[in-house]
Amino acid sequence: MRLLSTFVAFCLSLATFANAADEKVYTLTLATTWAEQVPFLGTAPATLAQTVDAMSNGRLKIKVDSPNKHKAPFGVMDMVKAGQYDLAYTASYYYKGKDYKLVFFTTVPFGMLISEQYAWYNYGGGKELAAKVYGEHGLTSYPMGTTGMQMGGWFKKEIKSLDDLKGLKFRIPGQGGEVMAKLGVNAMSTPPGELYTALERGTIDAVEWISPVFDFSMGFHKLANYYYTGWQEPASEIQLLANKKKIDALPADLKAILEVAISHVGSQLMTQATNANADAWANIATNFPNVKVQQFPTDVMKALKKAAVEIEDEQAAKDPVFKEILDSQRAYLAKVRPWTIMGEYGYLKQLEK
Ligand code: CA
Repeated sequence: MRLLSTFVAFCLSLATFANAADEKVYTLTLATTWAEQVPFLGTAPATLAQTVDAMSNGRLKIKVDSPNKHKAPFGVMDMVKAGQYDLAYTASYYYKGKDYKLVFFTTVPFGMLISEQYAWYNYGGGKELAAKVYGEHGLTSYPMGTTGMQMGGWFKKEIKSLDDLKGLKFRIPGQGGEVMAKLGVNAMSTPPGELYTALERGTIDAVEWISPVFDFSMGFHKLANYYYTGWQEPASEIQLLANKKKIDALPADLKAILEVAISHVGSQLMTQATNANADAWANIATNFPNVKVQQFPTDVMKALKKAAVEIEDEQAAKDPVFKEILDSQRAYLAKVRPWTIMGEYGYLKQLEK
């Protein structure tokens, strides 16, 4: 009997200890790349903060700092590595200057569509490769939404042949810019705040930005009539980067809550992007009938594809892990694309008849 009461007392003290631990509030700091006014990307971190707060009954808080506060929209990955912030909301491919293979976790020219990219990430080895690459930086990465398919850009003049690209002053940063440069384009990376004026004054002849909802807010449709379909950023997956040590030190339930919340907010964002792009395009199509949706001629597309493959192969020769991811994505694409073509594309093509 005495043994039993000692045991009960022991259990009670354990329960008290567990309750005390449960009540502890953990606060993570998050630096985001996008200011609040950027369509849906700007508000996603706050939605994540509200979600984890509700799911954890107030035990997990996320304090979000916008670029107005931290002043380094493209420095957020480094700040999380250095431990100045615990989390960052950003896109991997902004950091290709530091580590080129990070591009694969956002999107690459002629790469996978959103559904294909997520299938590769979750079931085709992508998650393991992301852990390997980000692990070297002391980070854990999670996909947290996508802006969807990107358009090929706004052009003042129609592109009829490869010759029309020679010397064209085209604002297209990243890998897409490298590919265009191989075709003789003067690929520029004019800062976002200067784009409208640059296009208006002819400092640039064309501009690649994102998709209807983002492009519309920039006003490019008032200056350029040709809106080309995309090839350079077909998936545009966004990342939540975490300082690995910091989140591994969270209690297991809070870490699980954070991971489920990231996944939930990410899938909301995906449908938000579709909805917002559809609204924005309907607006442009109705109110700006001069805007024509165009596709690049076949010889241009073939040359772009060839240049994109060359650039990837050049990188693969320099970095074995880049090659490992490239091979993984190419093999996955070879498997998944026939299904995309026969399923969704086949359905849409049939409806066009
Ligand atoms: Ca873009």
